[in-house]
Amino acid sequence: MKISIRMDDVTPDMDWAKFMRFKGLCDLYQVQPLIGVVPSCQDEMLHIDAPKTAPVAFWDYLKTLEDEGWTIAQHGVTHVYHTKKMGCFPLNRLSEFAGRSYEQQYAPLKEGKKILAAHGIDTDFFMAPAHSFDRNTIKALKKLGFRRMTDGFGDRPYLRWGMTFYPIAFRQGSVLKKKDKQGYTTFVVHANTMSDKDFERYEQLFADCRDRLVSYRELLRVEPERRSVFGHWREYGLALAKFVLVSLKNRAANG
Ligand SMILES: [Zn+2]
Repeated sequence: MKISIRMDDVTPDMDWAKFMRFKGLCDLYQVQPLIGVVPSCQDEMLHIDAPKTAPVAFWDYLKTLEDEGWTIAQHGVTHVYHTKKMGCFPLNRLSEFAGRSYEQQYAPLKEGKKILAAHGIDTDFFMAPAHSFDRNTIKALKKLGFRRMTDGFGDRPYLRWGMTFYPIAFRQGSVLKKKDKQGYTTFVVHANTMSDKDFERYEQLFADCRDRLVSYRELLRVEPERRSVFGHWREYGLALAKFVLVSLKNRAANG
């Protein structure tokens, strides 16, 4: 399978050293990822460095990345979780959107889009914080002109609810083993929380998979498929299974 990269939690005050370290790796292998930019980040966990102002201000820097071939998605609005709902893709039990009314979702989503537009960023791509969204999120996003979501499981983009979904990897390990399998997937990267060991793992992964790494823009050229209802149920079941496994693992790790 071909592998593309998405980087979550891109904000003016993210961990710039880690972001640039990961970017260096992408540059080395000439891979341009999808990045999730939070329009108005109010998530305390994501305030790490002083906001980037020099030598190139944050929003100007994003334009530079676009010019280099990177793709930008709107990553929520404030990145603050308001509910404990799992939504349509049940990987986490917390959400900025799922479980809220259409109106409660539409207004902030519109504001988020406006903030990006004021900085010259026009994207029809949405990245839900905690992978969590519901049908009202989709309805509001469509009304605002969004047409693409980075979420779901599978081996190629697919159509659902009038949007194109670009699947993420269920397990990176199994993708790495399936060298000759056709299709595409996306590895999700949170540079803010990466350790030296994580960087070393990605350095090795990029070196081992150099022939399979693709820029996100290549993925955008892939014709999306239509899925049966069983395909959608399977995806829901897989996400729920992953949620249960991760919860059990965390519980065991925390004693
Ligand atoms: Zn996030």
